[in-house]
Amino acid sequence: MLELHRVSRVYEDGTRAIDNVSLKIGKGEFCVLLGPSGAGKSTLMGMINGLVIPTEGSVVLWGEQLERANLKRFQRRGGMIYQKLHLVPRLSGLNNVLNGLLPETSLLRSLFNIFPEKNQRRACRLLEEVELEEKHIHRRAMALSGGQQQRVAIARAFMSDPNVVLADEPVASLDPSISRSVITLLKETARQREATVLCSLHQVEYALEFADRIIGLRAGRLAFDGSPKDLNAQALKELYGTRPVPKMEVEECVVPEPDFIPELQVA
Ligand code: ADP
Ligand code: MG
Repeated sequence: MLELHRVSRVYEDGTRAIDNVSLKIGKGEFCVLLGPSGAGKSTLMGMINGLVIPTEGSVVLWGEQLERANLKRFQRRGGMIYQKLHLVPRLSGLNNVLNGLLPETSLLRSLFNIFPEKNQRRACRLLEEVELEEKHIHRRAMALSGGQQQRVAIARAFMSDPNVVLADEPVASLDPSISRSVITLLKETARQREATVLCSLHQVEYALEFADRIIGLRAGRLAFDGSPKDLNAQALKELYGTRPVPKMEVEECVVPEPDFIPELQVA
């Protein structure tokens, strides 16, 4: 349903952020995107939501090639969650979630926050699903904690009933205990709707815990694509290491060098 065919992206200054990547992601998969900073994770997600145009190759969604002419239609089928939340700070949690419908809401409606009752009910249900209490729903976003704001952002992303949700480092600025519950809620909300998720994470241990499939990028190239159980020490080293691992050493390499693997707990 979501296909990348030999896509590359070269930025204006010559940086090859994505280099000849091909991928197929099926309906309902919870995919975690891993890779060191600068590996091209955000660029790859940008290509799927149409904000970054590939310089080579094509993005095919539900059998149709993504292009300028059909961009808006596809963007309506996708939800986005960012590390920096892009919530409207002065609006309540509820109105931020309702803004998830903005592409199909008239300007006047959104200016005056007049949303049909069925949408309001839907937004409240989503906020309940992400375990926000009623008192938080009506509080301004800027007065909510980081974890509560991220839950609002999840609810907002699902408001338009998306087929695909892209989450770019959604827990990068949250405490570990809150991060785990936020990823759990993201996964559960997506599972109930059979939505596909592509979620980039900094923390390898969350990828191992939550992902159905892990996609690893290194220097713009696909360096790993498989299930969490296959992401062994060697694969991690290939993903995060700064030098190639000689074949002889691979067997002895029990744990990867912690320096290269952010926040991985090494026993
Ligand atoms: P990640 O999300 O994995 O950290 P990015 O996709 O943000 O990686 O960046 C991949 C590479 O592309 C990096 O070298 C980054 O500096 C570069 N890059 C990202 N955006 C731009 C841009 N707009 N112009 C030039 N280079 C960019
Ligand atoms: Mg990024």
